[in-house]
Amino acid sequence: MNPLLDITSLPRFSQIKPEYVEPAIDHMLAENRKRIVALLDATDAYNWDNLAYPMEEVNERLNRIWSPVNHMNAVVNTKDLRAAYNACLPKLSDYATEVGQNERLFQAYKFIADSPEYAGLNTAQKKVIDNALRDFRLSGIELNETDKARYKEIMQELSSLTSRFEENLLDATRAWNKHITIELELSGLPASVKALAKQRAEGEEKSGWLFTLEFPSYLAIMTHADDRNLRYEMYEAYVTRASDSGPYAGKWDNTPLMEKILRLRHEEARLLGFKNFAERSLATKMAASTAQVMDFLTDLANRSLPIAQADLDGLRAFAREQHGMDGLEAWDIAYYTEKLRQYKFAISQEELKPYFPEDRVLSGMFAVVEKLYGVYIREITGVETWHKDVRFYQILDRDDRFRGMFYLDLYARPNKRGGAWMDECITRKRVPDGIQIPVAYLTCNFSSPIGDEPALFTHEEVLTLFHEFGHGLHHMLTTVDYPSVAGIGGVAWDAVELPSQFMENWCWEREALTLISGHHKTGEPLPAELYEKMLAAKNFQSGLQMVRQLEYAIFDFRLHMDYDPQQGGRIYELLGEVRQQVAVIKAPSFNRFPHSFSHIFAGGYAAGYYSYKWAEVLSSDAFSMFEENGVFDRHTGMRFLSAILEQGGSREPMELFIEFRGREPQIDALLRHSGIAA
Ligand SMILES: [Zn+2]
Repeated sequence: MNPLLDITSLPRFSQIKPEYVEPAIDHMLAENRKRIVALLDATDAYNWDNLAYPMEEVNERLNRIWSPVNHMNAVVNTKDLRAAYNACLPKLSDYATEVGQNERLFQAYKFIADSPEYAGLNTAQKKVIDNALRDFRLSGIELNETDKARYKEIMQELSSLTSRFEENLLDATRAWNKHITIELELSGLPASVKALAKQRAEGEEKSGWLFTLEFPSYLAIMTHADDRNLRYEMYEAYVTRASDSGPYAGKWDNTPLMEKILRLRHEEARLLGFKNFAERSLATKMAASTAQVMDFLTDLANRSLPIAQADLDGLRAFAREQHGMDGLEAWDIAYYTEKLRQYKFAISQEELKPYFPEDRVLSGMFAVVEKLYGVYIREITGVETWHKDVRFYQILDRDDRFRGMFYLDLYARPNKRGGAWMDECITRKRVPDGIQIPVAYLTCNFSSPIGDEPALFTHEEVLTLFHEFGHGLHHMLTTVDYPSVAGIGGVAWDAVELPSQFMENWCWEREALTLISGHHKTGEPLPAELYEKMLAAKNFQSGLQMVRQLEYAIFDFRLHMDYDPQQGGRIYELLGEVRQQVAVIKAPSFNRFPHSFSHIFAGGYAAGYYSYKWAEVLSSDAFSMFEENGVFDRHTGMRFLSAILEQGGSREPMELFIEFRGREPQIDALLRHSGIAA
C-alpha cells in the first residue's frame, strides 16, 4: 500500500471559508436527520449492519467537517470565522440533544442488545451498543412523561445556572484592579511582570502599573511582591470573588446559584435512579463506587499529610531564620515558597533551554516511542496545512503498516488559543476497502525560533510536548475500527489522562534525556550537575501540593455525595470538615474559595475533580513497571501498546489496566514519584 495515498482525504484548510461554514453544517445536520429517519424506517429488525454501524458513520461524517472548523477557530482565529463558529454551536447542541432523546433510536439499539446477534458481536461492537444505551438512559429516555418533562426542565435550568455562575465570576474578576503609581511599591517583581502591568495601564490610558485578578497577574503579585500589604489586598480580593465577602461583597454573589445547582443535580440523579449526584457522575467513569473514590482520596490524604506538614514547617523555619518572618499567613505562602525555591535550587528554566533545541527534542521523542512501541515517525512535506510553521508526520509500525498521521503546530502566534492540546482530525474506522487511518492535531504554544537560532524549549515545554504526544499516540495507535470507541473515543474521564501523563515520565530519565537533549551549539549532553538539580527541584513541596489537590477533590466529592435536601448544600460546613481533615495551611475566615470553584460549579468536573489524582495513580503505576523492567524494555512497551494504547475505549479501563500491569492500580508509585514515600 502506498502510504502517501491517504493524504488525499485530509482536510483542505485553504478552502474552509467562514461564509461556507454555517451552510455546510446546516446541510450536514439536515442530511443526518434524514439519514437517521431512513435507517429507522428501513426495517424493524435492527442489527449491527443496518443500524449501529451506519450510525457510527452518521456521527463521524459530521465530525469530519466540524473538526477542521473547530480547529481553525482555535489556531488561526478571525472575526468572521469566530462568528460562523458561534452560529453553529447552538445548532450542534440542539442536534445532539435531539439524537440523545430519540426514542425510536433508543428502541433500535435496545433491539440489537436483546437480539441473538448481540452475543456474536466483537468486544468493540458490544461496547458501542452498551455505551449508546447507557447514554440514552443517562439522558432520561426511560422516564415517564412527567419525570421526563421535569428532567428537561432541570437540565435547562442547570445550564443557565452554571453559565450565570461563570458570568458572575468573570464580572467579579474584571471589576477589581490595583493601580500603582509609585514604583517603590513594585519591589520584588520581575521586569517582565512590570512591563506587562505597564502595558495594561497604558491600554487604559493610565500612568503607572495596573494589576488585575486574572490569574497570571494575581500569581505574579502573590509570588514576587515584597510589599505584604499589597499581597494581602490582592489575596482578599481574589479569594472573595463572586461572594458575600470582600471588597465587592454581595455584588455578584454566587451563593444562591451554588445552592440551586447542588439541589438540582441531586434531583437529577434521583430521577435517574442514583442515590446522589456523585453516584451519577461515576456512571461513566472508571471508579466503581463512591466508597472506592472516598477510600482512595482518604488513603492518599493520610499518607501525604505528614509530608505536607513537614513542608510547611520547613517553609516556616526558612521564613523565620532567613527573613525574620514569623506567623506566615495564606498571602505569604507563595512568596516565601518562591524564596525557598531559589535558595535551595538555584535553577532556572532559562539555564536548561540551550540543551533542548527543537529538532533534538523532536527526533529524541520519536526515538523514545520507536524504542518502546517499534513505530517509526517520518516527516512528510508538501501537505497542505493552515500555517507555514505547521509540520506533518506519518507513523509506520515495524511491519511497515501505516498507523497514523499528525499535524504539529508548535509555536505561539497571534490569533491562536493559548495552552497545548491534542485533538482528533480523523478517527480510525473500518471502511469498505480497508481502514481509514487516524489523524491528530498536536498544538502547543512554545516560543518560536529567533533569527538563525533554533527554537529552544524549557524542560516544562518538553514535558508538555510529551504529554500531548501521549494523547496523540492513544488516538493514532488504536486498532479499534469504530470511531465512538476508537482511540480516546469513549474512554472514561478519569482514565483518559493515563497515556499522556505516562509519557511525561521519560522526560526525567537519564537514558531518555540523552536522546532528547544536547546543546544546540556544541551538541554537549545535559551536564550531570544540571540534571541533578532538575531532579531535586522536581518534588519541591509536593506534600503541600498534594494535600491542596486532595482538599479540592474531597470537598467536591462530598458536596455531591452527602447532599441532603432537608439541609441544603452545607457548603462551608463541609469545607470546614474537609479542611480539618486534610489542610495544613489555615485559610482566613473571609476566604470564599468555593464561590470561584468553576471546575465543579460551571465546568464538567462536578464529583469528578478526583480524576486528576486518579489518573496520576494509573500513569505512575504503569510507569513503575518500566522502572522494574528497564525504561526502554521493548516487551513492556509492546504490552502497554497492546493492552492500553491499541484498545482505546473498547473495553473497561480497569480491565485494560489489569491486563497491562497484572493487578489493580496501587498508589505506591505515585507517592514515590512525588517524593512522598521513599
Ligand atoms: Zn492531557
